[in-house]
Amino acid sequence: MRLNLRGGALCLDFVNTVDPRVGSNAVDHLSSPAAVAEWGVHVGAVDRLVRVDAVGYRRALALRRTLDLIFAAVTEGRPPAERALLALRDAHVQSLRRARPLAGGGVYRWAAPSGVDAVLLPVIQSALELLGSPALAHVKQCPGDDCGWLFLDTTKNTSRRWCSMASCGAKVKMRRYRSRRERIRRAPRPRVT
Ligand SMILES: [Zn+2]
Repeated sequence: MRLNLRGGALCLDFVNTVDPRVGSNAVDHLSSPAAVAEWGVHVGAVDRLVRVDAVGYRRALALRRTLDLIFAAVTEGRPPAERALLALRDAHVQSLRRARPLAGGGVYRWAAPSGVDAVLLPVIQSALELLGSPALAHVKQCPGDDCGWLFLDTTKNTSRRWCSMASCGAKVKMRRYRSRRERIRRAPRPRVT
């Protein structure tokens, strides 16, 4: 899997598995149960491939839709629909049921040992953490053409505009440059008399 991770939060990277998220010719990087397991390894949510069955796959896609609804609302300055927030709670409860306490570095966390929950639980935990944090106000949607990826702006003055300056930012800059050049080329030349 060669999917770029630009969300700055696991839950946003999960939403960004549709590329572009807004626009045409989208590629779904979670196009199969195996792809969900691969994504889990790719983002470091799990250290080995877990088995994802058809039911687990449907749950993964439902979670992505839920998170998309919630964070899209946030980026538009609207409160997320309660129905979506409750769906997130239900997904959390379901994943937690399979979780075990895991000790490490003197602290404990809850992790699902196998199946799709091993991937979904960290995504859900990331979403809950973000929803409960003032950083929520800094979730943005990239305005790039055929992008729409969500990201957490962690710059000091929250001035980040693009998911990636190197791709979306550069594309827009290049287009502006080209159209400026075109305008100059087409502008009537002053007549010398
Ligand atoms: Zn972008």
